[in-house]
Parts: sequence; structure tokens; C-alpha cells
Amino acid sequence: MTKRIALFPGSFDPFTRGHESVVRRALDLFDEIIIAIGVNSSKKYLFDLDQRVSMIESVFADAPSVRVESYKGLTIDFAIREGARYLLRGLRNSRDFEYEAEIARMNLMMEAGIETVFLISLPEYSAINSTIIREIYKNKGDISTFVPEGMNMPS
Ligand code: ADP
Repeated sequence: MTKRIALFPGSFDPFTRGHESVVRRALDLFDEIIIAIGVNSSKKYLFDLDQRVSMIESVFADAPSVRVESYKGLTIDFAIREGARYLLRGLRNSRDFEYEAEIARMNLMMEAGIETVFLISLPEYSAINSTIIREIYKNKGDISTFVPEGMNMPS
């Protein structure tokens, strides 16, 4: 049987407890999950790419079916290159739904017909948002409630 590989794409600046929960809940669904950090050269990030890779790797050190990669360009092109037939996304609210549904439908209509699998976030994570975490971090606030327990933070 062909391996069921899912790509979990995002900017993960930074990776949060909400992201972690989506990946852990999906472990049973897929043989392999690739956490794919999308790199857009015109975007400024708070944590650089190497920091984000090692932060996320530290969270999944216990999960052999999870690996972390980065990519440029279209998410579905990277999915095809990695042999992933599924995208994994989390949905917090109706705003996420509106945005995600359009992308998912277009991805499905494209030649490779990549399916998107959505997991609804648990209520305790539905307010967690990387943009707000960045603001707290920049202002020297404590972000530990929002990021995975034990995640290696850059020093
Ligand atoms: P993007 O830049 O693509 O929005 P993010 O890093 O913000 O990437 O998020 C990646 C995926 O994780 C998206 O599907 C997003 O909806 C989902 N997500 C973000 N925060 C949460 C959360 N707190 N709970 C569940 N899913 C989340």
C-alpha cells in the first residue's frame, strides 16, 4: 500500500500549542506528517527559518513519523515533490473556514487533486494565534502558555 503522507504547511512564526495539537491528533490518520515551513522571501519573520526548524523538531523528538522541512513556491508543488496526497490544516473559527475553503477547493481542482484534511481546533486552543504571540514576544511578555511545553526557544 502506498504510504499516506500529509503535509502540514504554515509559517509557524512561532509554532504554537494549537499547531502541536493538530499534528498530534493527526498522527493516527497518516503514516507520515511533514511539517512544511513556507518561505516567502518578501515576508519578514520574527524567528528565522533555522530557529523555527529546530523549535519544531524539539517538539516532535518523540514522534518518528513527523519531520520538518521548508519550501518556497506553491504548497501543492512541494506536496507533489514529497509524495504527499493530503494537506493538513487546522480550523479555529469561521474566518479560518472561509479562507481555507477557497484554497482547498482550488487545490482539489488542480491537476494533482490534493485533498485537504481539516481538524477543528479544541476550544482551549482556538484563541491561540501566532500574530498575537509575536506581539507579546516582541514586547518581552511571557508566551509560555501558548507555545508547546518543552519547545526549545532560541536563546
Ligand atoms: P499560515 O501562515 O498558513 O496561516 P499558520 O502558521 O498561521 O500558517 O498556521 C498553519 C495552520 O495551522 C493553518 O491551517 C491554521 O489555520 C492552523 N492553526 C493556526 N493556529 C491554530 C490553532 N490555535 N489551533 C488549530 N489550528 C491552528
